[in-house]
Amino acid sequence: MILVTGSAGRVGRAVVAALRSRDRIVRGLDLRPSGTGGEEIVGSLEDAEAIFKAMDGVSDVLHLGAFMSWLSADRDSMFAVNVEGTRRLLDAASLAGVRRFIFASSGEVYPENRPEFLPITEDHPLRPNSPYGLTKLLGEELVHFHQRMGRMETVILRFSHTQDAGELLDEESFFSGPRFFLRPRIRQQLSFGNTAIADLLRSHDIGEPSHILARNEDGRPFRMHITDTRDMVAGILLALDHPKAAGGTFNLGADEPVNFAELLPKISSLTGLPIVTVDFPGDGVYYHTSNERIRNTLGFEAQWTMDRMLDDAAAARRRRGAMEQGQ
Ligand code: NAD
Repeated sequence: MILVTGSAGRVGRAVVAALRSRDRIVRGLDLRPSGTGGEEIVGSLEDAEAIFKAMDGVSDVLHLGAFMSWLSADRDSMFAVNVEGTRRLLDAASLAGVRRFIFASSGEVYPENRPEFLPITEDHPLRPNSPYGLTKLLGEELVHFHQRMGRMETVILRFSHTQDAGELLDEESFFSGPRFFLRPRIRQQLSFGNTAIADLLRSHDIGEPSHILARNEDGRPFRMHITDTRDMVAGILLALDHPKAAGGTFNLGADEPVNFAELLPKISSLTGLPIVTVDFPGDGVYYHTSNERIRNTLGFEAQWTMDRMLDDAAAARRRRGAMEQGQ
């Protein structure tokens, strides 16, 4: 029995589906029901009883559940879930005699938005600059502790930024909406209390919905990894089953980062919306994270290039449009 935390989430749902399609026995644990059927416990990582119940008869744990937030009002809950919840889960897993525990960490542990060298390898210094990144680094420390205790195998996967392809062209989606669409970005910045940035963005509003091409103060376009959920699933399954994964730490993500100056025209040609270019103060986002270790050690191969993701994203946008017209 494999326990998947965060089983109602973007990556969790896809991992559970992939495991079940391979006839693996899976139990989900999430705050909310996944709606996909199959065995799952609706409960919190903050609840010792829910964890105890979830761990019954479990041989392996994929710990994907987490609270991702960049709002200061969420800080207490985020540490409670991501740090204390992870500690509880690790302790329960060790006690239950679990064979392997896989932890979903993040590129925010480096952090990727302020790299000291490129490409970022697993040996890059770990100096998170967001509370979320700090919770993931503390999670990694807890995992290392259990690895040292030697009662179970552990694997740390430092996840790339991950999207379902269908999210890329969806202005309502949590990450891609504000990343690629101007008005959702304004709303996001207001929710963060960044009024100066919101004002800067508003000054670029051309009176109709548009995309945003983000650059830094020197006009350098943003560049980052955006990995398809399906590639993440492939990496997670390798971490679960590959003998050489035990005890390892691996960056998991697409081979190449995506340059927004190349991406935005493609996005715009699919949506028909114009692009406005905004130069943000500071260095901006510009990184490249190496996935060489997971490729060379576990044989990971990313399949979903950005162009393939965009094909799927365009189809999903057409479906959403057809549904809205039908309503
Ligand atoms: P997601 O937000 O879609 O899924 C996370 C799931 O965790 C949600 O279903 C949520 O309900 C559940 N959860 C939150 N608090 C919980 C609690 N107290 N108890 C039980 N479940 C709880 O995120 P995702 O994109 O599927 O990410 C999966 C993992 O990968 C997370 O650990 C995340 O931190 C990490 N990660 C994601 C990204 C990304 O870009 N999506 C990047 C780096 C790391």
